[in-house]
Amino acid sequence: MTNFVYKLNGNVVKPNELTDAVLRGKFDQMRSKISDALGSRRCPVHDLEPILFLESDGSNVRVTGFTSCCKQSGADVHKRLEDLKELAGMEFTVTVKTMNFDQK
Ligand SMILES: [Zn+2]
Repeated sequence: MTNFVYKLNGNVVKPNELTDAVLRGKFDQMRSKISDALGSRRCPVHDLEPILFLESDGSNVRVTGFTSCCKQSGADVHKRLEDLKELAGMEFTVTVKTMNFDQK
């Protein structure tokens, strides 16, 4: 399972802290679309999953970035997000934040 971080107006929020049901629905919808597209994506080298950032200003929800364990995994996730963009016609900006792990 891909991990997700929800942010509202720049602050990290837990899904159950979103009191606006419509907004929470938008977050959850985006999350499930992306989960379906990415599947159980794990880096074959590091056995880690990407973390996706979903962000909202109170109206629309966008994917603002993701974190992956290495460039290879990051490129794979990025490609799938680009595919999803075409598929769903969604507007989002992807920012790749790569974390490097020296172990393994
Ligand atoms: Zn990796």
